[in-house]
Amino acid sequence: MAEKKTNSDQWRQATRLVRGGTERSPFSETSEGLFLTSGYVYGSAEEAEQAFAGEVERYMYSRYGNPTVAMFEKRLALLEGAETCVSTSSGMAAVFASLASQLEAGDRVVASRALFGSCLHIIKEILPKFGVESVLVDGTDLEQWKQALSVKTKCVFLESPSNPCLEVIDIRAVSDLAHEAGALVVIDNVFATAVLQHPLELGADIVMYSATKHIDGQGRTMGGAILTNNEDFVENSLVPFFRNTGPTLSPFNAWVLLKGLETLDLRVARHSENALAVAEFLNEQEGIAKVLYPGLESHPQHALAMTQMSAGGTVVSFEVDGGKDAAFRLLNGLDMVDISNNLGDAKSLATHPATTTHQKLSAEEKQILGISDGLIRLSVGLEDAEDLKEDLDRALAKAGG
Ligand SMILES: *Cc1c(COP(=O)(O)O)cnc(C)c1O
Repeated sequence: MAEKKTNSDQWRQATRLVRGGTERSPFSETSEGLFLTSGYVYGSAEEAEQAFAGEVERYMYSRYGNPTVAMFEKRLALLEGAETCVSTSSGMAAVFASLASQLEAGDRVVASRALFGSCLHIIKEILPKFGVESVLVDGTDLEQWKQALSVKTKCVFLESPSNPCLEVIDIRAVSDLAHEAGALVVIDNVFATAVLQHPLELGADIVMYSATKHIDGQGRTMGGAILTNNEDFVENSLVPFFRNTGPTLSPFNAWVLLKGLETLDLRVARHSENALAVAEFLNEQEGIAKVLYPGLESHPQHALAMTQMSAGGTVVSFEVDGGKDAAFRLLNGLDMVDISNNLGDAKSLATHPATTTHQKLSAEEKQILGISDGLIRLSVGLEDAEDLKEDLDRALAKAGG
């Protein structure tokens, strides 16, 4: 076996993404092996007994661990600067496991109200069924966080930038307030990506991803991940919950995601460049009421965004004049950009949040969150920015009716 001594902790980001976590099998393959196995064999009955007693560390069952899944987890943990990464079958499985594993009846959760629809459902509908109190605040208003966190709290959950209006929340300030209230801070870092924003460095305790989005980034597989340096949370909450409830990432999906990590920094850099170019273009067009993009100076939290993130991100939201009819005319008028509720893909994807991802919200909730009938969320892909602008230009002319 070709073994090389490496100190992967000292590698720089691009190197970690290409090589981090690689474990070669006795066949010395170049590309990471795909171990499609649910179980593992023991050399003797004694070895099995020792494994179950926790006396030897080895693979026992793929619900708990698998070599391909472990390579993905190690590589992502190196990128995030986290001791532990537990991967999951989807982003929502990661959100639910990160919260449900540590909460019990009588606990209190404080969350920002501008959340991905399913995250909001967990906080507002599912957790209260188990006796957890949930409080929602305007994430951009530190006074509201201060007030909500003046009471003992178990957990804080937020997304920054948020979906779909790209609100930016001060992660360090909220983490400080949360810690004073005794809470652990969970950040949904999907929109920012592990390349542009490092919440653990900003004071957060737990970071989670939908790997379905930029980590795969090519529309192939579902996946998720939870990362943290909090050993107590890992040992006493996350691992027992995860092993016994089974939101496990499949080895095949882990392999796709592992290869996705190799190009994540290159792709996110191009996504962000294109997103800025598209945001600047949209900002100059007639018939658009507003453009929301953290990288634009006109964004209400632009300065904060630029201290937390190394670029503005991959998603641009904008509001067309003329409400739903104009928004639909624009979407239907796109020749190249696809209509899809997914994001973080190589292909640019546009969606109408009010009638799709956030359809279930009441009219009042949509209004509070700024999800108007004219709002379009554009996940900017890896195409040539000029082609994107031309497509949007044509579609805008149709939206104008
Ligand atoms: C997509 C998404 C999720 C959920 O991830 P899945 O992989 O679809 O389960 C959670 N949070 C945000 C911000 C997302 O965009």
